[in-house]
Amino acid sequence: MNPLEAQLHYPFGDTIPAPGVIQEVAPGLAWIRMPLPFALDHINLWLLRDEVEGRAGWSVVDCGAGTDATRAAWEQVLGQGLGGAPLLRVFATHCHPDHVGLSGWLSDRFDAPFCTTAGEFAFARMMAAALPGVDGPSAIPHFERHGLVDPAMLDQMRSRKTYYPSLVPSVPEAYTRLQDGDRVRIGATDWRVITGFGHSPEHAALYSEELNVLISGDMVLPRISTNVSVFAVEPEGNPLELYLESLKKFTNLPEDTLVLPSHGKPFRGLHTRIAQLHDHHAARLAEVLAACVERKSAVDIVPLMFRRQLDAHQLSFALGEALAHLHKLWRDGMLRRSRDSDGVIRFQLA
Ligand SMILES: [Zn+2]
Repeated sequence: MNPLEAQLHYPFGDTIPAPGVIQEVAPGLAWIRMPLPFALDHINLWLLRDEVEGRAGWSVVDCGAGTDATRAAWEQVLGQGLGGAPLLRVFATHCHPDHVGLSGWLSDRFDAPFCTTAGEFAFARMMAAALPGVDGPSAIPHFERHGLVDPAMLDQMRSRKTYYPSLVPSVPEAYTRLQDGDRVRIGATDWRVITGFGHSPEHAALYSEELNVLISGDMVLPRISTNVSVFAVEPEGNPLELYLESLKKFTNLPEDTLVLPSHGKPFRGLHTRIAQLHDHHAARLAEVLAACVERKSAVDIVPLMFRRQLDAHQLSFALGEALAHLHKLWRDGMLRRSRDSDGVIRFQLA
């Protein structure tokens, strides 16, 4: 355990539910874990005992990626775990493939409404359709503008055209909207929607005062820092500012809130973790600013922030993240942003 993690408390210790197995974490609330085909090899989903129109069953928060391994684990959960009880509603915290991958599959199978925010619903639909602007190839000119010239890397990124649809075979065609501050009754428990920005368009976390539980999605994770990227579809975005501002909303919740994150283990120590995340980004921002005494592109910044070999998948996140830090400094007036005669955008101290 790293020293930062040691400042958090893990009430379930090292216990992790095996694929297809259900672990209760609070009354009427269960934890399941699904495999992922990445370096980040799992996602946590949350089952909530529910009752809709007189029917008893369960609702789920997030779905897992559209892979055979996740479908197999779901079959086990639905069969043995829930003993044949139906899923009544399918909630999604946000549109990333590990969260909405099987949303269409689950929602169709149980005729269960799909509940998420308008921002996440729209982006999930756009990306599942691989619309120009949000598909793999759209990233190429974006990254070229920010200094990427390695032809092998560019080729690999070009070949990722179907990355999102390959993990998200379908997204429901209609949805039930969640908005910031909404109170959603799930079974016997009231949950409040807390929207967050910077990681995805309109991320929905859920907080229950009664249970003192926060389903944090990807907004607050115990071990890794949430990816915050500037993407091709919003090339002048300032997602790091949005993310850091969004974190402030969670500091209104009690320090001893049980946090159920999408990755890692349930933990207590919400305020401590938020302070760690603020420190982490402040340190990165200071490094990036110091490096920009000379003109630097986002590609120049990547090795400073990520001191290891990156494949195309990791590089696209790393570049987006480097750009997010550069853009915050640019929008704060600390850096100037301009395009050179080679077509590359570079940043320098203002
Ligand atoms: Zn995510």
